[in-house]
Amino acid sequence: MNKPNLEYSPIQTSIINIYQRYQSVKEGKVATYIPELSKVDPNLFGICITTPDGQSYQAGESHHCFTIQSISKPFVYGLAIVDHGLEKIMTKVGVEPTGEAFNSIIFDEENNRPYNPMVNAGAIATTALIQGNGYEERFNRILRMFERFAGRSLEVDEAVFESERATGHRNRAIAYLELNAQMLEGNIDEHLDLYFRQCSILVNAKDLAVMAATLANNGINPITKQKAVNPEEVRAILSVMASCGMYDFSGEWLYRIGLPAKSGVGGGIVAVLPGQFGIGTFSPLLDPRGNSVRGIKVCEELSQRFKFHLFNSHPISQTCVSRIYTGAMVASKRQRRTFQRDFLDKEGEQILVYELKGDLYFATIEKLVRQLQNCQRQAKFIILDGNRVGNVNSSAITLLSDIRQWCISQKITLILTGFPQTTITRLKANNWTDEAFLGTIDNALEWCENYLLEQSNYGDKTFKDKLSLGDMDIFNTFTEEEKAAIAPLFTEVSYQPNDVIIQEGEKADRLFLLAKGMATVSLSLSDSNQRKRLTTYIPGIAFGELALFNVNVSQRTADIVADTEVTCYVLPFDKLKTLLVTNPEIYIKLLQTFGTTLVNTIKRATLEIRSLSAQ
Ligand code: GLU
Repeated sequence: MNKPNLEYSPIQTSIINIYQRYQSVKEGKVATYIPELSKVDPNLFGICITTPDGQSYQAGESHHCFTIQSISKPFVYGLAIVDHGLEKIMTKVGVEPTGEAFNSIIFDEENNRPYNPMVNAGAIATTALIQGNGYEERFNRILRMFERFAGRSLEVDEAVFESERATGHRNRAIAYLELNAQMLEGNIDEHLDLYFRQCSILVNAKDLAVMAATLANNGINPITKQKAVNPEEVRAILSVMASCGMYDFSGEWLYRIGLPAKSGVGGGIVAVLPGQFGIGTFSPLLDPRGNSVRGIKVCEELSQRFKFHLFNSHPISQTCVSRIYTGAMVASKRQRRTFQRDFLDKEGEQILVYELKGDLYFATIEKLVRQLQNCQRQAKFIILDGNRVGNVNSSAITLLSDIRQWCISQKITLILTGFPQTTITRLKANNWTDEAFLGTIDNALEWCENYLLEQSNYGDKTFKDKLSLGDMDIFNTFTEEEKAAIAPLFTEVSYQPNDVIIQEGEKADRLFLLAKGMATVSLSLSDSNQRKRLTTYIPGIAFGELALFNVNVSQRTADIVADTEVTCYVLPFDKLKTLLVTNPEIYIKLLQTFGTTLVNTIKRATLEIRSLSAQ
């Protein structure tokens, strides 16, 4: 994406307005219990919002670095899960909010573990679980993890680290109590140093927003596109942030602001709206619970103004079905002989097309499932088109697989068209095979039609050999004498695969009857190298005849290319015109035949347009 000019962005303007509104707020006090923290300039104030595709909106001192402090806790918790797995971590650290201050000395005695990873007791236990060979390696793993989240290299504020290390007696006491209760094992002083050091990593509001956006983006950093953690760790991190992230204000925060968040005594707050954006704020003036006063106000205002609360009223899901039609209403672009067309006009009812749209997840697919269950008994093929589908979540993948099982039990062939490769890969991991996927609805319709025709011995195989001139559909109503009279005007011409039979722009002066092989009409699409197939001709079909009726324009409007070896009977228009003198009835009959074919084509096109515009 190009870098936009944010000057005119209403979102940027809102962030600036909010920043200006709260700039004058001077309530709260900077943290002093870690002596080094008391030196911070209380006026500093920065805001940043970052989207999962990497756009940041910033105001104020969003690049001023401060120590991350407790905001490190949920992220290190994620790393501990990477190291040990969700189940094991649950036995070591709980997930219950305490309602107590961050540094309280209480434990979940029933389960012999700290209550949650957001209070110091839990965070120290979490850090103690980080693997690695010795202090250096373990800290490097922690730092690399933060760098993956922030998308840049980070440093430690050594002065803050030393200051907390020298004065953090309460945390030391907590750790030793945990050791005593066998909640912790290993080198306690090393664990504590790691914990103090992780709290002293320097970040700014922009980093916090990018870290939050990484969580909003299922663990993928929006700037570097690197994976920071897996989606299952993201879920665990956001869960503990939502229930315990804001110290003993967590319940009220969820009630008022409604986003998973974490704050730190350095003055930072990180908040996440999953799938949409991350917020980072910095203002070191803290309320008595340790939360940044201006940070809370900013988040509250943003949440109210833009309706960010997770539990705001949600739009009720609509169905994902945008259109339903049968193969009798809309045919593939493959030309069919008259007897095949008549057959498919009836039997095409067995092909059902469901064009899907929007996001696929439980509530939208549930409606499709209901519609499928009601589908006509005679359905033999179901085509689900995903060309206009948005996101496909994992419950949709499961439900699509259930639909497939249902189709198998009903002896229905299920074909998916137009789905992106990523969805196809996920379905294949659920035992779907290649045959279930075709590129377009047109391909799928053609496949189903061919199947139906073959089954009833109406298939193209029945005219594998070269057809004689008299077998052509246009002569269906001709007598043998009439056929004999017109036959000498034709010459037989052969083409190799990929030969251009008709070229766009060339003079249109002859009529073709396809006796053997197949040929495709395609248009080049403007601004791409791709070609769109209009139709494919099969033996028995006439083409190039429309120019007969077009007295002004005598140029071909599309390419017709041989798909296979092709034989045509070719009739130049000037030769045809000689019939006007020698055999006018035959000339008229021929024109009438073309007229009837044209009428039928238009009728079919009208039915198709009606079916496609019905919903
Ligand atoms: N390093 C700080 C401590 O454990 C973190 C406190 C916080 O940010 O809540 O005291």
